[in-house]
Amino acid sequence: MAELKTPVISYTQLSLLDDCSLAWYFKYVKKIGKPQTIYMFAGTCFHEAMQAANLVFISNGNKAELDYVIAVFDSKWDKGIKSLELLPGQSPKKFKANGLAAVEKYWSEVGRYQAPDACEVKITKDLPGMNCRLIGIVDMIRSDNTLVDYKLTTKKWNEEEEAATNTQATTYTFLTGKPYVDFEFHVVQRKDKPKVDVISMRRDYVDVEDFLGYAKRSLALMSALREGTVPPEPRDKYCSELLCQYYRECQAWKYGINLSN
Ligand code: SF4
Repeated sequence: MAELKTPVISYTQLSLLDDCSLAWYFKYVKKIGKPQTIYMFAGTCFHEAMQAANLVFISNGNKAELDYVIAVFDSKWDKGIKSLELLPGQSPKKFKANGLAAVEKYWSEVGRYQAPDACEVKITKDLPGMNCRLIGIVDMIRSDNTLVDYKLTTKKWNEEEEAATNTQATTYTFLTGKPYVDFEFHVVQRKDKPKVDVISMRRDYVDVEDFLGYAKRSLALMSALREGTVPPEPRDKYCSELLCQYYRECQAWKYGINLSN
């Protein structure tokens, strides 16, 4: 008899459901695939540059030179940019210049002073009593056991709000199975003069209890959306053609337009 596979969800999936259940519905129920936006692509290139730099340190204990980190970003960018669908008025040249400035600022001020033990670490764990496995990828585990996640953003993060409410930190604390975890977001604002913020927080087993309740509610909502017993709810949070990959489908859904015609 074929073995039934336990469903797997990621933090990204939980987070998209939280942001907008309609976008989640397009992606995971309708399974509408989309190319990355240029914002996502810039973030991917930034992550890959940091990963390459961290691997240098992990393999031989030497800090990567800034020129090397920049060259990784540059080459990833040039290889991937042609596959993107750009919107009218989006200048890849400007995005690339801002991405390179972000790499330079972050690596010079923060990145090169880190001592990574591991990077891009995949962790999975069963959600208790939910018949579901959760998966997360940690950008970097520092030698002091702090988990570090990189964010290349357009807006400044609100430090107090994130420290109090950020669910990614709690998700990863659950995944490690430890009684508490120190977490840092290294947030780089991508603009002509980039800015770097390091936002620290600690999560413990009490936060994890709350998280498990949240995960259970999220899974129940996902099932209801799949079964069609509740309708997806559009949210206003990221509603623009620039930020939401499903803007076109969303407009059609709202106004009853059939896109296949
Ligand atoms: S445009 Fe806004 S409401 Fe529509 S799917 Fe995207 S985030 Fe949701």
